[in-house]
Amino acid sequence: MNAQDFFEEGALIAVQTTQPLDRALDYRAPEGGCAVGAFVEVPLGPRKVIGVVWGPGEGGYDLSRVRGVSRVLDVAPMGEDMRAFLMRAGDYTLTPLSSMLRLATRAPGLGGAVSMRKVYRRGDVEPDRMTDARRRVLEVLNDYGGLSFTLSELSEMAGVTTSVVKGLVKTGAVSEEDAPRDMPYPRLDPMRAGKDLTDDQAAAAKTLRDAIAARAFGATMLKGVTGSGKTEVYLEAVAECLAQGRQALVLLPEIALTTEFLTRIEARFGARPAEWHSGVTMTERRRCWKMVGQGAAQVVVGARSALYLPFQDLGLIVVDEEHDSSYKQEDGALYNARDMAVLRASYCGARVVLASATPSLETWANVEAGKYDRLDLTSRFGDAVLPEMSAIDMRDEELPSSRWISPTLQGEVTKRVAAGEQSLIFLNRRGYAPVTICRACGHQIGCDHCDARMVEHRFQKRLVCHQCGETKPIPEACPSCQVEGKLAPVGPGVERIAEEVSDLFPDARVAVLSSDLYGSARALKEMIETIAAGGADIIIGTQIVAKGHNFPNLTLVGVIDADLGLQGSDLRAAERTFQLMRQVAGRAGRSVKPGLALLQTFQPEHPVIRAILSGDDEGFWRAEAEQRKAAGVPPFGRLAGVVLSGPDAPTVFDVAGQLARRDGPLRAVGAQVFGPAPAPIARVRGRHRVRLLIKAAKGVPIQNALRDWAAQVKLPNNVRLQIDIDPQSFY
Ligand code: ADP
Ligand code: ZN
Repeated sequence: MNAQDFFEEGALIAVQTTQPLDRALDYRAPEGGCAVGAFVEVPLGPRKVIGVVWGPGEGGYDLSRVRGVSRVLDVAPMGEDMRAFLMRAGDYTLTPLSSMLRLATRAPGLGGAVSMRKVYRRGDVEPDRMTDARRRVLEVLNDYGGLSFTLSELSEMAGVTTSVVKGLVKTGAVSEEDAPRDMPYPRLDPMRAGKDLTDDQAAAAKTLRDAIAARAFGATMLKGVTGSGKTEVYLEAVAECLAQGRQALVLLPEIALTTEFLTRIEARFGARPAEWHSGVTMTERRRCWKMVGQGAAQVVVGARSALYLPFQDLGLIVVDEEHDSSYKQEDGALYNARDMAVLRASYCGARVVLASATPSLETWANVEAGKYDRLDLTSRFGDAVLPEMSAIDMRDEELPSSRWISPTLQGEVTKRVAAGEQSLIFLNRRGYAPVTICRACGHQIGCDHCDARMVEHRFQKRLVCHQCGETKPIPEACPSCQVEGKLAPVGPGVERIAEEVSDLFPDARVAVLSSDLYGSARALKEMIETIAAGGADIIIGTQIVAKGHNFPNLTLVGVIDADLGLQGSDLRAAERTFQLMRQVAGRAGRSVKPGLALLQTFQPEHPVIRAILSGDDEGFWRAEAEQRKAAGVPPFGRLAGVVLSGPDAPTVFDVAGQLARRDGPLRAVGAQVFGPAPAPIARVRGRHRVRLLIKAAKGVPIQNALRDWAAQVKLPNNVRLQIDIDPQSFY
């Protein structure tokens, strides 16, 4: 450590806190001094808050009023790379450093004293008397080498009562000790052999291993169809990273995927890694945070916010399904975890692996520009072949009203049911029906707080607003004309398709996979396991089925409405449809039986549908890139979305108008302002929303211009301004 990185007692230091202030605060270093990066507790008004020592204090005022740091917390200091990353990420996303620090300290009880608990391990002596129960306890302890267990863990694993363990403690055969509650994670062993890789897997793995051994920053797109072994390949990269003594982070887009993945890590490295996502208990979160900071968690598997964990020496970040839109955090600090992963890696000399069967256009463009490396896995592992894909032209199909499964699709499902194989029917729409209309007056039931129609959820027997989550019972009478018994559902959601499937196939076992139908991630996971084990003949699912689950007996995928994503003005509509359809189709034929994917469409000639069917993804990307280049939009131009919102529409429009007129700071860097216009969803939770769109050439540093521009107008109290750099969605 440099001398200037340590502050002696009484020295003036700047402490960055998580409080919403626009700067660090000055304090005096505590007794014993403190290092830059140390986590500290400081007095702020009547409270004590957590902060990080950021550097020397500013001074320049009445120094007698500067208060002292209360204490230095017993956690590893924040590294310089992490501080630099937080500052840069905050600058880039226009997020205050205090909010960035909050992301980086989202573990409860960091300030608390180290709490202890009793743990049990093998003692030095043999028990005086051996029983079956005692033998089982000792076997567990021997099997796990030097590991220690809590009383309940040990007795459960041995299948004995706790008194058996206590009895062994008395004899000295088991020792009882106090240990900190936050225990290190079991060591993963990178030297264990992985699967025998195929030639192209082995070549990709070797390239990644070499890149990681070089211990330098870089990013690699790992592209391969679902089932080609991308996971096997990047586990080799994880192994190399562990062998280098560095930490690895694997980001997954969906909590439901983590369990399957943890099991795979355990099989490969002999122990389970740390987990970080919203389904993890508070105690586990704190343990994970602390152990990551001490280097005592070698691998973390987690959601996007795991990027902000205090890794000591991060050597690899894998972003699995990197194209997934859930990597974009859509409230609070707006960031794209894929981009932040690259940024973070650049500060700590780590390699980033962006894995996907259908990479984002952003990543593809970075490869084309020579910024990222590229590795391809071209075939599926083993005998599995890619599914055959074709369109069902809905203009030629005879369908009664309020029916969506074409006779052609029905025929194919019938064959699968007869053969004992599984079919997946895909529709990316939760609920029973997207619209409820009154047949007497034409009124459509909307949300009281949002400019959105309410979606009927028949399992819950309620109408739900997908914007704000508001629910209400399905009324008897039309809220507009009061006529009773005339409300009717229009259009399909997965629940309605399930009803149709049950009518068409009364003897088949039907399962619906939709995120809202399961109370917990665990319940959803259990359902997925049941299905994978053959517990359903026909699966009806929303986009959660598109994400990586393995259903070996699935041989048919039917897409109810392949045109769904093509409507709408979103600049990524085509890309999203392409990715989603390819991912869903990839669910079929993952084992030895060949798969078939059928897309119901009214526009089989649409270029996107044709690209999906032909499997020519390079062609699709090239065409899509040309269009975006011509329009000057991402990834070939820059966008920032600005949303103003408030309870009073005229006020919000007024502020937006002022901002649009005072575009000098933006024009100075060559950026243009479009709008104001009502946002596509013009009201959410009772707040009116007005949008401006800022467009600039690639490489223009728009952040500073945006900051100056927004600062010109003082916002009324109840008006909120939100700037989204590189927006993913445009609602
Ligand atoms: P992806 O991540 O590309 O979807 P996976 O790595 O999950 O592919 O591989 C798909 C399936 O094939 C998994 O069950 C995996 O264990 C298996 N697999 C892939 N490569 C191999 C290999 N070389 N040896 C044995 N099994 C493999
Ligand atoms: Zn609503």
